[in-house]
Order: sequence, then structure tokens, then C-alpha cells
Amino acid sequence: MKITDVKAYPLKTRTALVRIFTDEGIEGVGECSPMNIEIMAHFVETALKPLLLGKDPLDIEQLWNEMYIRTYKLGVQGTQPSCIAGVDIALWDIKGKVTGMPIYKLMGGAARTTFTMYKSIGGGMHMTPDEMLDQVKTAHDQGFKAVKIRMDYGPFNQDVDLDKDFEMFRVCREFLPDETPLSFDANNGYSVNGAIKQGRRFEELGIYHFEEPVAQYNYEGIRQVADALDVPVSAGEHEYTRWQFRDLILQARPDILQPDIVKCAGITEMKRIATLAETFDMQLLPHQTQPSIGNAASLHVVSTLPQSTRPHEYTGPRPDLDDLFDDPWEFIDGQITIPDRPGLGLTLNEDALEAAIL
Ligand code: CA
Repeated sequence: MKITDVKAYPLKTRTALVRIFTDEGIEGVGECSPMNIEIMAHFVETALKPLLLGKDPLDIEQLWNEMYIRTYKLGVQGTQPSCIAGVDIALWDIKGKVTGMPIYKLMGGAARTTFTMYKSIGGGMHMTPDEMLDQVKTAHDQGFKAVKIRMDYGPFNQDVDLDKDFEMFRVCREFLPDETPLSFDANNGYSVNGAIKQGRRFEELGIYHFEEPVAQYNYEGIRQVADALDVPVSAGEHEYTRWQFRDLILQARPDILQPDIVKCAGITEMKRIATLAETFDMQLLPHQTQPSIGNAASLHVVSTLPQSTRPHEYTGPRPDLDDLFDDPWEFIDGQITIPDRPGLGLTLNEDALEAAIL
């Protein structure tokens, strides 16, 4: 079996979609990070495609190695692993279709295939507490049984308004039923002292996980916050490979690791990062903002991890993305179940794809 073509498209849905074609007519689909979809598509077609043409798509690890080393100097943080991700996911999709098995089966089988999804709501920095509360109420009405509110500060806004953030968390926590977990994502916007102070206040109200409290590059600071607080502190959406997660684990020691499958070089590398998480007795709680292919690939990996039982990140149903597929996955009563179909379990609709290309 040989790869005959690799295509990558920036879509109107803010998706960098990858398709890999073979001489046996089987096709795989993948997705890169959405951070700059034009750059992603260009990288895949100019830097990765030449390494793939004529190769056997079932040699996934060998192709991964080739892509990673041969484009190493183009940047192993950010664009390069995000583009490898799109290709790697498509290769696993092909392997699933060749064998007639879902991807989780190829990885050794699922511990479970139904997942509670948490609604991830961003933009807190520019909202009032009541505006965020309205969003949380909408999520609750949509059936979500877990929620995270994100501040979107970034590391150059530090401790802007701790009291407002606390009030936002408080009104949302008081609205949600006790059994609905609420998490808080500072998006790197707190100092170490600010994060510890805020975290203690959140703990009194009940917080499920405290995400990226301080700057993503401040490993020592993450460690100080995680050591000081009881609430599980998470980090990892800014890390891309097992080597970066190794450093995060050893230096920052967060309680929870958050690789994003469309950023961390795909299914192959996320499974390796999951092994690191198991080795260090940490949970994997993926970062995930891409509700179709990215979400599917991420759930296939998490389904194989018995100890990673926390609700999975979901930005919510997206009809514009569902339209791209003949068989979009269903979100029902706060949950998603991986369908028992070969590969990813998503079939592209040619006409819809054609209409969605930028
Ligand atoms: Ca985050």
C-alpha cells in the first residue's frame, strides 16, 4: 500500500484539514492546530508531503520519526508538531479503515467509550461575572454536566482583577448543581502569589481543577502553585512532544497533564505522553478545542487510559463542522460515545468540503 497524495486545506470553519490518499482507494482524514490554518496547510503540503509520497501509510511510527527529524529545524514547538498531528491522525484513520477497526482497538482496546464532556467557555477577562453566568446557564441548558470558565489572559496580563475573577467563579459555582464540576482556567494570567491566594479562595467554594495558573514557561512557578494548593493544578497545552512533557513533569510537577492532540504531534505522540503520565501517576486531561476530528482523535486515545476519567474538554456542538461529515458524532445529554466504526469514525462529505474550502 502506498501514499499517492497528501492535501491540506484551510477551511472556513477555522480548520486545517489533512487528507491522505492511497493507491488502494482508502483515504484518511486528519486535522492540524487551528492557530494559523494557512500556515498549517502550507507546511503540510511543502514540508511533510514530500516525505510521505510513495511510502506505506501503515508504517506510522517510521513516518512520524521521518517527519519529526527531517523538519526538526523548522521548529519543534508549535507549527511543526501541529502539522505532524494532522498527518498522523490521517494515517491512523487509514490504518483503521484497512483493518476495519476503530482506532482505540488498534491501540489495545478501550477502557470505556462513553465520555462526559465539559463545556469550555472562554473570554472571561472581557466579561462581567453576570455575562459569564449567562454563558454557564446556556451550557447547563445544553445538557452539560461539567463546566470550565477560561479567562484568556495570557502571561502578559498578570493579576489584572483577582476579585472580579473570584466573583465570576462564585456566581457560576452557586448557580450550578453541586454535582456539576466547575473548573477555572487562568490562561497563564496570575503571579505565583496571586494564584495561590486565588486558588485557596476557589477551594473554599469547591473547584474541580485549576488550569494554567501562571505563565506556561514558569515551570518553577507552576510547581510552587501545585505544591501549595489541594486542588489539582493542570498544565500542558503549550507543550508539544514527550520531551517537553518530560521537562514539564520533572520541573513543574502539575497534577494533571493536558496535551492537545492537534498540537502534540498526533495520536502516536499523545499515546507516548499518556505513558509518561501513567509512569508518573498523573492523569491525562486533554486540551481540545476542535469539536470534530480533533475531538474524535483525542477521545480515541483517552478511551484507552483507565485512570483518565475526568470529563473531556468540549467547546460545544458545531453545526458548521458537523455538516462536513456524513456521520457526525452525537452529543447527547452531556456525553459523547465513540461510534463503533473503522478508523476515526468520521466520513467526509465531498460537496460540503468543497464548499468549506477557503
Ligand atoms: Ca486552557
